Amino acid sequence: MQSIFKLAVSGVQQLIPYTPGKSIEELERELGLSHIVKLASNENPLGPGTKVQQAIQNTVAELSRYPDGNGFALKQALAEKHQLASSQITLGNGSNEILELVARTFLTPAHEVVFSQHAFAVYPLVTQAVGATACVVKALDYGHDLNAMLNSINDKTRLVFIANPNNPTGTLLAEKDLEAFIAALPESVICVLDEAYYEFVAEDKRANSIVWLEKFPNLIITRTFSKAYGLAGLRVGYSFSSAEMADLLNRVRQPFNNNSMALAAAEAALTDEEYLIKTIALNKQGMQQLTQAFTGLGLSWIPSSGNFVSVDMRQAAMPIYESLLKKGVIVRPVANYEMPNHLRISMGTEDENLFFITALKGVLSELG
Ligand SMILES: *Cc1c(COP(=O)(O)O)cnc(C)c1O
Repeated sequence: MQSIFKLAVSGVQQLIPYTPGKSIEELERELGLSHIVKLASNENPLGPGTKVQQAIQNTVAELSRYPDGNGFALKQALAEKHQLASSQITLGNGSNEILELVARTFLTPAHEVVFSQHAFAVYPLVTQAVGATACVVKALDYGHDLNAMLNSINDKTRLVFIANPNNPTGTLLAEKDLEAFIAALPESVICVLDEAYYEFVAEDKRANSIVWLEKFPNLIITRTFSKAYGLAGLRVGYSFSSAEMADLLNRVRQPFNNNSMALAAAEAALTDEEYLIKTIALNKQGMQQLTQAFTGLGLSWIPSSGNFVSVDMRQAAMPIYESLLKKGVIVRPVANYEMPNHLRISMGTEDENLFFITALKGVLSELG
């Protein structure tokens, strides 16, 4: 029988699929463990807030109807919060979908896309899927080397991805450097500024990127409800851009890409200031708890502005990851990010963090 593999477009043939963090159910099946702590996907350890849960309940009776394909209410709430026009907002099935929409809107196989080494794994995926060529720029201290990225831009470059903070390194760019970088880009290069962890950045270190939209028509800022707002399972992301850019993305977007529950939940999440404050405080405490433990174990880590931290195990991290699994802790190996000695740990609750720290101590002493 003839294989259909070679019928696929060449970018897709070469794609290596995204590896998600192992799920709790999967580990339960494999090892029959009952107490499992997952610190692997930068999810919110608080679970969804009560306002969100109520909003979802309220949608149930209407589930036989199609959702609002324009996400009118959610866009309006976002527009009000950020003092933008609704026409500048695009909603995605996770901000991942927006990254993909941008690629499909602006890239052909003739184009190049610039992003950093150790940057978010979805950038190479969406680039390759449309047959464009990735230009991966060597990182500087695990962060984006903006000068090197600028230098790598040529006539074929159509798109640049910047993750700020970056996942899995947690590195943050200074506001001034970032603004100068975008200003220096040719107008023919679209800049995606991925701010999936924006809410976790200390207020005095956050870039006020939204005001840049007025002067940079090639800028698009993406954010998400998956992390700080605790809605990873519902898939809601959004972008801010010029109305012209949003209109283009809208043409490519599926008409009902956000479901009714997701739209209602996201709108409710925006009103739950208390949940957000609690989330940020818990994250700060968790970061202290984990990094103090690392210091105690003589391990170094990459200072992180996100809700996760990548710690250097000073040896191949995969065996440590496997041993942690056997103790019921799921963390994230990042060898696919060219960081074979690091593990990325998402902040959990205090108890979850403690469970991980105890397991890590056990694993390290067993390994000698
Ligand atoms: C988690 C993450 C996203 C977004 O994920 P969605 O759930 O699709 O919104 C985007 N960028 C980075 C860098 C991330 O880590």
